[in-house]
Amino acid sequence: MQTKIVRIEDKTPVREELLADAARILREGGLVAFPTETVYGLGGNALDADASRKIYAAKGRPSDNPLIVHIARMEELEPLVTEIPESAKRLAEAYWPGPLTMILKKSGRIPAETSGGLDTVAVRMPADPVANALIRLAGVPVAAPSANTSGKPSPTTAEHVIEDMNGRIDVILDGGAVQVGVESTIVDLSGDHPVLLRPGAVTVPMLEKILGPVELDPVLTKPLGPDVHPKAPGMKYRHYAPKAEMILVEAGDEGETETDCNGPEENCGSMRVVKEISRLAEEAVRAGKRPGILATDETAPLYRTGEVRSIGRRSDEASVAHNLFAVLREFDSIGVDIIYSEVFPEDDLGLAIMNRMNKAAGHHHIVVGKDGSASETLGG
Ligand code: AMP
Ligand code: MG
Repeated sequence: MQTKIVRIEDKTPVREELLADAARILREGGLVAFPTETVYGLGGNALDADASRKIYAAKGRPSDNPLIVHIARMEELEPLVTEIPESAKRLAEAYWPGPLTMILKKSGRIPAETSGGLDTVAVRMPADPVANALIRLAGVPVAAPSANTSGKPSPTTAEHVIEDMNGRIDVILDGGAVQVGVESTIVDLSGDHPVLLRPGAVTVPMLEKILGPVELDPVLTKPLGPDVHPKAPGMKYRHYAPKAEMILVEAGDEGETETDCNGPEENCGSMRVVKEISRLAEEAVRAGKRPGILATDETAPLYRTGEVRSIGRRSDEASVAHNLFAVLREFDSIGVDIIYSEVFPEDDLGLAIMNRMNKAAGHHHIVVGKDGSASETLGG
């Protein structure tokens, strides 16, 4: 299949004539990759079971993993669900269009292929102007998982999508780099209280401001017990994985803050992490391996060994989320053998960043104690 690549230079406003062809293809059952503010999506008509089957085939994704249905306007929600709870209305008011997906009870219009056989459906209204105009012009709700081959990091540029999907789908709309860089927040509103299933740029405090207390899905917080083997079926830890093994290195003391750390000579948490990663990288090189180091603007100049990449500024978590998947893909393409990564505080957007990092690393951590001793864990 020949994939048509359409470059969209200017998004404000989008020239709709550039999208007309893609919108028609969606309506007629074809597949179109498009930018959203979170990551690139691989879209098909959500009401067309065949289109959903094609999405699973193009991604190589198991067909019991349901798709998120994207809409452009609030009126489009009602036909897709049995009821719109008050909580969903309030969340939509506050955060739609935006990086938030809600799980609601599905109506009969959603085929089982789209919802992975569940009686609920995931719905989101994206804010990206290309995504919004495309869905509106298509005139159908658009089922769209991330536009990557299953098991690869989600695509945050059109180049990533071309790498994975060229020749497999009808159209790729190239709208440049996405804004957020991690997938949408998913909150389940189909039960009697809201549950966070996936952290994203709509953070827990943002949800709780509207909903009151939100439960976190145990899988987001619970460390693996010693009796649970990390490769057990259903534990999709390699879901967002780079090719190389990845290990997260963290300081093992509570309460120590960055302000305790004033210079490279000091033994504060972040410096101990830099020292341990440097030691591990040197050890890897001696063993004939090529290490990658996932660092930050603040720490990158301190590393002397390995392929060092800064993921963004520690002082600006949004920059870290924005670059995370691109850096993981870059490690894939340059072919490092092992990746050592710094970690981030698990608050606000940090919860989303660490969720993706933990998946990429299969929850493999090395904890560096105050005395410089290092211990390994496969827990959360
Ligand atoms: P992606 O489309 O690649 O961002 O992945 C979609 C995510 O949404 C997957 O983790 C799905 O398991 C999840 N999801 C979609 N629909 C539902 C649903 N009805 N209930 C629970 N999770 C869902
Ligand atoms: Mg995905």
